[in-house]
Amino acid sequence: MISDPFQYSLEDFYIGENQNPLIPPEDFTEWLKAGARTISLYEPKLHGAAMPRVQMESDGKLLSVINFTSYNYLGLNKHPETIAAAQAALLEYGTGACGSPLLCGMTDLHAKFEEELSSFLGTESTIVYTSGYIAALAALSAVLRRGDVAIADSKMHMSAVEGVRLSRAKLATFEHNDPQSLAQCLDQHKGKRRLVLLEGLYSMDGDFPRLPELLDVTESHGVDVFLDEAHSILTCGPRGAGAAEHFGVASRIGLKYTSLSKSFAALGGGVSGSQRIMDYVRMYGNGYGFSVALPASVIASLRAALTVGKTGANLRERLWSNGQYLRTKLNEIGVDTGRSASFIVPIMIGSDRKLMYDLCHQMRRRGLFLPPVDYPVVPQDQIRFRASVTAMHTREDIDEALNIIEDTVVRALGKRT
Ligand code: PMP
Repeated sequence: MISDPFQYSLEDFYIGENQNPLIPPEDFTEWLKAGARTISLYEPKLHGAAMPRVQMESDGKLLSVINFTSYNYLGLNKHPETIAAAQAALLEYGTGACGSPLLCGMTDLHAKFEEELSSFLGTESTIVYTSGYIAALAALSAVLRRGDVAIADSKMHMSAVEGVRLSRAKLATFEHNDPQSLAQCLDQHKGKRRLVLLEGLYSMDGDFPRLPELLDVTESHGVDVFLDEAHSILTCGPRGAGAAEHFGVASRIGLKYTSLSKSFAALGGGVSGSQRIMDYVRMYGNGYGFSVALPASVIASLRAALTVGKTGANLRERLWSNGQYLRTKLNEIGVDTGRSASFIVPIMIGSDRKLMYDLCHQMRRRGLFLPPVDYPVVPQDQIRFRASVTAMHTREDIDEALNIIEDTVVRALGKRT
């Protein structure tokens, strides 16, 4: 009998008691019911594009909210050039690719985009998958084998973790951003085939990896790196070529992984590397050969987004200045923003889950859309709201949001201490 749903998390219902795997644990179903008000905060329905101000359906009501959530970092989701390119390709190529890229789903647009992404990132070859998630699963399961060890930063995204699981390699983690811990972990698995997994900008904390120092360690051990540039592509580096460009280490990365759903504002995932490794990944990463290609209209919008994004220094400047403004103002009103050094800004709550969900409801009613991030996605004592701004947010948007945060989160946390 579940009386307090906040005492439980997804971790508690992983194993079912029924012989039939299609009958989930009874407690799980009860827990969902008991926490219905909390669950209703997830899967809100946006009525319109994911721009800084949006209409959102929540609890059966249509709310006008400031969007501090969507990954439309440069605002390309409604850019006239991405829309026009997608429209033209939709008319010419139709709605779907109707086959896997290996057999018949590839078009001239796909091939051009892969070349353009390679040349942008300074790599020889790129494969584009239908999502970032699939790209990580496919690439890691293509190169790792049982007996190998993937050595990941402890904050590595689930897509890479699951890619390793799929490969049946061992997953070892080192302490977040700690070169010494990485060196120890590499030593511990000496003699094995090893690959190190890092992110270009950590998605829940908004901090950078210490790339030059971490790469000094991997290179001294003769081990290559897979870098997830999901949040750093188009947002970091002078040309937007990611954290690798920002730190001047692009040529030292073995495999670069980019999500095309964030700054590119569409969908897909790219994996880029030398011709030799990508020829192998193409054949052994099953998410490519056994799944349909992206529609040409999506590829056309991605090509336009790349053209706008790589010359969009002004958009990047606005994005970073908005991030800096939000962080500074939040800190001024006493909000703990953790390790954030970017436009991804956690609002740390601690461990009081009931409080977090209550605050989430309050902020939505006041007109601010901020997602709760609960355990087990983040540690139990570090639950938070994950705020992110875009280049399109105005200072008025941010100031209004700050007022709401001050009236709700800051007041509640102040009362607690
Ligand atoms: N890597 C990171 C760090 C991410 O945050 C995400 C998605 N949030 C992904 C990979 C997966 O990308 P996609 O959503 O494009 O599948």
